[in-house]
Amino acid sequence: MIISMKLGAGQQEIDHVCERLQDFGYKAHVIHGVERVVIGAVGSGQNKEQVMESIEAAPGVDSVVAVSHPFKFVSREGRREKTVIKVNGHGIGGDEFIIFAGPCSVESEDQLMQTAEAVKKAGAHILRGGAFKPRTSPYDFQGLEEEGLKLLRQAKERTGLAICTEVMSATEVDLVAEYADILQVGARNMQNFNLLKRLGKISKPVMLKRGLSSTIKEFLLSAEYIVTSGNPNVFLCERGIRTFETATRNTFDISAVPVLDELTHLPVVLDPSHATGKRSLIPALSKASVAVGADGLMVEVHPNPEKAFSDGPQSLRLPEFAKLMVDLKPYLALWKAERAAASSAVAPALAAKA
Ligand code: PEP
Ligand code: MN
Repeated sequence: MIISMKLGAGQQEIDHVCERLQDFGYKAHVIHGVERVVIGAVGSGQNKEQVMESIEAAPGVDSVVAVSHPFKFVSREGRREKTVIKVNGHGIGGDEFIIFAGPCSVESEDQLMQTAEAVKKAGAHILRGGAFKPRTSPYDFQGLEEEGLKLLRQAKERTGLAICTEVMSATEVDLVAEYADILQVGARNMQNFNLLKRLGKISKPVMLKRGLSSTIKEFLLSAEYIVTSGNPNVFLCERGIRTFETATRNTFDISAVPVLDELTHLPVVLDPSHATGKRSLIPALSKASVAVGADGLMVEVHPNPEKAFSDGPQSLRLPEFAKLMVDLKPYLALWKAERAAASSAVAPALAAKA
């Protein structure tokens, strides 16, 4: 169950709830959100209804909700309002569709600055680019590491774009967090539990990519690791999963968006670049990403994809990205109208609940 404490609830009240839960046979996990404290109670204590009633009556408690899913904090059952993650003046999960664009890998100053300036001019909100690269082969380019992070910082200074970049290991979290606005967990690391727990100890936003062969439940349990370790600023990225199909690099599970919208309050971003592996497919699937109601889109862009150190075949050229941004406009207008209608329908319901 999820216990939301009242605004301004004191430490004594929080401790009291935790003690009561322990007495009833539950383990309490306390999360300090921006506004209020939320306590997740996990376990198989008896007489759930009775326990809920008793906790509800404790001082400082606002509400108690039973959550049937194993992922408690990220579940929609525990929190109806969508999470909105603030980055550099934008809100991921809010009323703005967020576009992440940039190269697969940071390769050089010239490559990154050219790309950053072009994607900024075309209207992207966040610059992506890997400095630590998880490569299938140990003989492939492994990334510029800290040198790449410095170039990302330089690109941010030049364009004002926030930076999203991958962190591959728990020991590198502090270093990457020094430079990044958003730390990306790659598909191959979705179940690197030590990394997830370590990311729970920072407050910067984390973009968790779905594992190559992961179910939605496993995906949400990985997000739960980060949140229950203390960092509620998590959003998800669907980037295609392994199936028997070979026409595309992966199979784009676009149904993940409405499925996740039912199950979780975390924002969801789509990545058609890694899902398809093929430049020609990106425009159609980007439009589909907006139409399906995702919160954002991540696209790989490179000034000269033929010479890219990684993922050239799926990277858009700079003018192709600019054209995509123009072609997305009517879809984005519909998206905005639908989002506004949905939030005005939710607002009175929440007001009634309060
Ligand atoms: C990437 O974003 O460049 C990347 C390596 O993605 P994924 O982890 O989804 O393969
Ligand atoms: Mn890539």
